[in-house]
Amino acid sequence: MDQRIIAGIGNIYAQEALYHAKINPQRKIQEISKEKLALLHTKLQKILTLAIRKNGTTVSNYNHLDGKGDFQDFLAVYQKVFCPQKHSLKRIIVGGRGTYYCPRCQR
Ligand SMILES: [Zn+2]
Repeated sequence: MDQRIIAGIGNIYAQEALYHAKINPQRKIQEISKEKLALLHTKLQKILTLAIRKNGTTVSNYNHLDGKGDFQDFLAVYQKVFCPQKHSLKRIIVGGRGTYYCPRCQR
């Protein structure tokens, strides 16, 4: 979860994209294959497109998940207890931020 790599992307979207690309947020960038980075890029684009479509101009409100918009219905890991595969999620601190991930889906 290196913000230099995913510059300016909201923490929620970064966590979601990492889940969908099956990348453990504790991985260092140099440990991740080119194929997985390409996948991460694709997933991030899809998530951002969906988020914009679901919320339009109030995307920033997702920082608080205050109920505006309905993108939160599509979240896989952020502030969840189980991943979509029903595994228990872990919450860790990465780069000073609370980060949700699935130890079984994300390696
Ligand atoms: Zn899982």
